[in-house]
Amino acid sequence: MSLACRHFAICRREATHQHAGDSLHYCYLHYPERQGKNLDQFDEALRQHLESGSCDFRFFQFPAGLGSPSFSGRTFARPADFSEVAFNDSLNLAEAVFQQGLRIVARQTGPILLNQARINSGGLSVQLDGNAHVSLQRAVIVGAADLRSGSDLHLSAGYVEVHGPLSVVATSTSGLYLNSARLHEGFKLRVTEWCAGSRSFSWWLLRGDLNWQTCGFRGEVRFDEASFDPESRLDLTQSRLEGLRISGYKLLPKAIVLDATHISGDCRLEADVGEPRLKILAKSRRPEMDGKTIFANVNLSECRLVGNVFQSMAFSNIEWARHRGRWLLFDELVAVPSQEPAGRPERVLRTYSNIKEACQILKESYRNLGDHVRSGDFHYGEMEMKRREYGDRSLLRFLGLEAWYCYLSGYGTRWKLALGWLAGIVFGSAAIYYFSDPWAFSWNPNVALKYSVDVVTLQRPDLPKHVHPWSHWVRGIEAVWGPVQIALFGLALRMRLRR
Ligand SMILES: [Zn+2]
Repeated sequence: MSLACRHFAICRREATHQHAGDSLHYCYLHYPERQGKNLDQFDEALRQHLESGSCDFRFFQFPAGLGSPSFSGRTFARPADFSEVAFNDSLNLAEAVFQQGLRIVARQTGPILLNQARINSGGLSVQLDGNAHVSLQRAVIVGAADLRSGSDLHLSAGYVEVHGPLSVVATSTSGLYLNSARLHEGFKLRVTEWCAGSRSFSWWLLRGDLNWQTCGFRGEVRFDEASFDPESRLDLTQSRLEGLRISGYKLLPKAIVLDATHISGDCRLEADVGEPRLKILAKSRRPEMDGKTIFANVNLSECRLVGNVFQSMAFSNIEWARHRGRWLLFDELVAVPSQEPAGRPERVLRTYSNIKEACQILKESYRNLGDHVRSGDFHYGEMEMKRREYGDRSLLRFLGLEAWYCYLSGYGTRWKLALGWLAGIVFGSAAIYYFSDPWAFSWNPNVALKYSVDVVTLQRPDLPKHVHPWSHWVRGIEAVWGPVQIALFGLALRMRLRR
């Protein structure tokens, strides 16, 4: 009586060996004792298995040592499954054609060779426990390509074409070569340590997003030679980099996400002249930038920056956030105590002085450039922070000197506001004088207006006799406030027009 192999459902073979370890019976393909397996005998058994048309290779135990069965050039009509296979030397699937996808799950393995392989549908899924080397040179994959390694993954995939999302998850990568690759639906990467070195990324075509969250990169990450899909985004949320450089004349992504990204070295983010501004996003947490940072032709309207040292940052042709006709830092826009998610309003109060300092630096740098509009806007931001530092419920915030400076002339930046107040004072007072005692002004409003102008311009005209007492009060206030408002108007105008 002959026993069936333990994995009879897969191999349909009789058992020829009993394993000493577990006392179970196996065919030669499944026999776990790989050391000393006869390669010819194994090949013959494999040939019979393949002739039956099966694409199921689960639990196969390939001979250890040199020389491995090759599937090179084969066509697999059904979904090919290499789950839980064991092999040392290599799994050679080069130039093979997979009509319905390929799945490989293995523990300790040698290299997996898929050079010039074609996967016509169903995609590729590789899950490896140990260090792994996967070669996908010039392969074509229709469907998702999902590569996972429990430790180090070395992927050489030059000229690969993936018609689906590519995903690489590994503890580290000792090499990741995607030169001239064509990626049609983006690239998701999760590696704790990637020695990017001085290599730059290059691919032939990239559609979709680069999702590189929580990665760790050794060396500078440069994208000098890479063209992005102009609608794509590069997401570096919570990743650690030693340097980042995205610049040049090539197509850049639409947005770069730097939420809580840590860049320990220099950083240069720059769109070329004439190109749309590169959008940098950091809505919930600022990126930490330790080195010298250059922003040129970028949009920072939704990027937190405060907390970094602004002195080591250079800004050129920036689009800032805009609120009520004023350019400002995104940090200022979101520094509203009620919007603080942690529910700690005092945290926001403390950030005001950081924002104030950042505004001071930006104000100076725009003044040096001769851009008085922006310089004025950041001066406004600085004063606004000074006023808010009194606290949200403090009277000084609403009635202090800064508050009045804000109400009357927008901290000296809004000449139209100052002029409006001045006109209000002159016309308002004139109206009160006239409508209280029209007879005193010969029933002519122009006479009252002339009188009001004389008061504001400190010509000390006398009020007609027997007018209503409040006209005396109004004249007193107008005589003090009017000249002050003229001065505020003059200062605001000077701030706008000075060289
Ligand atoms: Zn078997």
